[in-house]
Amino acid sequence: MANSLQSEYKAVRLIAVSNRTAIDPNARAGGLSVALWDTLKASNGLWIGWSGKIKDFSSQKATLASDDGVDFALCDMSKSQYEGFYLNYANSVLWPLLHNRLDLVNFETHDIGPYRDTNVQFANAVAAHANLDDFVWVHDYHFFLLAHELRAQGWTGQVGFFLHIPFPSPDVFRALPEASELARAICDYDIVGLQSTKDVTNLKQFLSEDCGAQYIGEEDVMVFGRRVTIRHCPIGIDTLSFKAATKSEPAKAASRKLRKFSGDRKLIIGVDRMDYSKGLPQRFESVSKLFDNYPETHGATSFIQIAPPSRSIVDEYIQLREELDGLCGRINGDYGDLDWMPIRYLARPYRREEIAGLYNLADVCLVTPLKDGMNLVAKEFVAAQNPDDPGVLILSQFAGAAEQMTEALIVNPYDTEAVAKTIFRALHMPLDERKFRWAALNDGVTQLDINWWRERFFAPYGANASTQSSQEAAP
Ligand code: ADP
Repeated sequence: MANSLQSEYKAVRLIAVSNRTAIDPNARAGGLSVALWDTLKASNGLWIGWSGKIKDFSSQKATLASDDGVDFALCDMSKSQYEGFYLNYANSVLWPLLHNRLDLVNFETHDIGPYRDTNVQFANAVAAHANLDDFVWVHDYHFFLLAHELRAQGWTGQVGFFLHIPFPSPDVFRALPEASELARAICDYDIVGLQSTKDVTNLKQFLSEDCGAQYIGEEDVMVFGRRVTIRHCPIGIDTLSFKAATKSEPAKAASRKLRKFSGDRKLIIGVDRMDYSKGLPQRFESVSKLFDNYPETHGATSFIQIAPPSRSIVDEYIQLREELDGLCGRINGDYGDLDWMPIRYLARPYRREEIAGLYNLADVCLVTPLKDGMNLVAKEFVAAQNPDDPGVLILSQFAGAAEQMTEALIVNPYDTEAVAKTIFRALHMPLDERKFRWAALNDGVTQLDINWWRERFFAPYGANASTQSSQEAAP
């Protein structure tokens, strides 16, 4: 891998910037970490991010580290910066807003100050460690302002941005008091990658209506005197390695353990971070309606939801946890029997291999977010299936993945009656239809994987001309 990348990216050194980096073992297993790690290694690149440390007084200077051929520059945060930047502005303002949850945006206590300061701190780290001919690739909603801060220091090098979460409709974005400031800052990137065509349409509409952007061709806009490329780049998973994980010992052990619980019952699975964007209460209600409307499922079907708490200090997450605890208890109380637990809910993380083994065993996977940038669980579930007896994917129309994965059973997660009906249909889907749907989904997940995504992002720079034709194919 490294050798082929070496030739692709030899002309440019990559500087990646993201809030968490893969030097943190908890963040290392994901496809993004693997893809960035390989690319950084091949280009002698550098990864800049938060050290994960909260210090009484955070020095503005990054600490340098190195791991398996990749260099890191890691910035500490002070306690007030962690609260103001990470917990407040990034995760209690931007996260809900970009997921269409205006009702959860903390407008009263919102303060962009620490967010600006942290973007300046990370821009300083880039300026201190990068050269003008490097390509700086910034990730996600924590760093909308980073290129702007760099430009303010006179930086003329290439800076790209990939937004992993959705970009909402202009009216929702306008509700943010700093919408214009953020939009202006986005235009200081040279290329902006987005997950879905809806996100691209939304951003372009905002820029033309509020910032006077003029369109040149399919992807480029002239705005604030600069040319910016806005590119549809749906992220994929490391499909080959995920398929290999499904055959690993930890995968088999986890699958055996779950089989002991499920016996010969049909198994429905959900795997999510515990986040209000994932539609978990609605999903639990749908499962409740399945048991209510279809008594033949009693004793014959179990639902297992894996949902480790995330950002558990934020109030909304504490409330969600309580709501799920209540729903789970109610469903088991209403429908369970001496020898059957209808719903099993595990609020803890599992290893990637174990998750792969659980997907492999399941008959149906419920991926029903109310809003999601992409949703990688949908892709992992498909990658983990056995071709001779594949499970069925039920996917929310509001996940970015729904644009690509059209052979899944697409549902509206708010319509819990319809979701219950779709689960029943999935449980009884004939083998031929399951195989047909899975084969098409598997082709997509295999071809449009994490490497395809990275190459598509860089294609306008000719970083990998050899795959130009496949990059231009509609995803
Ligand atoms: P998000 O990025 O919003 O969390 P995605 O579905 O895109 O949602 O990605 C979630 C990732 O986290 C997937 O790779 C999935 O396997 C992993 N994951 C989700 N739940 C768990 C869990 N309980 N234990 C370990 N990994 C998990």
